[in-house]
Amino acid sequence: MPDATLPPGAEKLLDGAKVAAKVQSDVAARVAALKARGITPGLSVVLVGDDPASAVYVGSKERTCIELGMRGETIRRPATITQRELEDIVDRLNADPAVHGILVQMPLPKHMDSDAVVRRIRPEKDVDGFHPVNVGKLLIGEKDGFAPCTPAGVLYMLQAYDVPTAGAECVIVGRSNIVGKPMAALMVQPGIDATVTVCHSRTRDLASHTRRADILIAAIGRAQMITADMVKPGAVVVDVGMNRIPDATKKSGTRLVGDVAFESVSKVASKITPVPGGVGKMTIAMLMANTVRAAEQSAA
Ligand code: NAP
Repeated sequence: MPDATLPPGAEKLLDGAKVAAKVQSDVAARVAALKARGITPGLSVVLVGDDPASAVYVGSKERTCIELGMRGETIRRPATITQRELEDIVDRLNADPAVHGILVQMPLPKHMDSDAVVRRIRPEKDVDGFHPVNVGKLLIGEKDGFAPCTPAGVLYMLQAYDVPTAGAECVIVGRSNIVGKPMAALMVQPGIDATVTVCHSRTRDLASHTRRADILIAAIGRAQMITADMVKPGAVVVDVGMNRIPDATKKSGTRLVGDVAFESVSKVASKITPVPGGVGKMTIAMLMANTVRAAEQSAA
């Protein structure tokens, strides 16, 4: 996958934009094949409230769907919506044969029960991969379920760059249901075969674990917390974090950084993802891949 025409040293970067473009062109071809059979894959995103970050994520999901030839719709509702009203929307989408993927953008307003909403989505349409049935299928290794998009994107990127995983020490920092835990489930699967350690805020002597890693995956939500002294020379470092820190040189007054101190760690690592331009790009690409597969499976 790394491009021989890249300038020296550039292959050190795991380029999320480049790998995501490849995923999306594969998806576009599969969409075209489905359309030739009269099926247009469709993703419906439900956005509750007016959180600006959520609005940006949802906008790019809808745009990417349409670019790839899929049907993308966003259903917007105010934060005052009731649990019942939201579940009625999910029920309607569950029953609609033109809808292959359903995603309810998180976080929901505090008065709502997010777990109940996720459980309401039919597992066959849960392209976010958060329904307990899909979480179970991921653990068991059943291929017809959906893995959460961010960890699936990380694994895809490692494979695209031929990073050896069999027998590799993979240390994941973070144990969320969205990233850390499903990442661990993917890396330990037969065929991937990493030896996985999952660290969290109660882990003793974090650096003693991270320094063992051949593959270090940071999903912490703390700006630049992984420093060079915590990384084994030659390790592959994947930075899932997206944190805004003050930066007076920017018009917005902030800039986006990961959980890894990129400047220093990139001197020690053999490969590393940038932020932005790394894992973030893969997340939407994998959502598109899950949606087209949901449509293929529903048509099978
Ligand atoms: P989260 O739910 O807040 O989980 C963070 C994890 O980090 C928790 O397991 C926490 O441990 C652990 N942690 C916190 N401080 C720690 C410390 N000092 N030492 C060791 N572990 C520590 O966050 P998340 O949803 O997984 O997201 C993580 C980061 O990834 C965030 O920056 C988020 O914005 C980003 N993200 C990016 C994408 C993308 O598309 N690129 C997608 C999702 C998330 P405890 O469990 O003990 O609290």
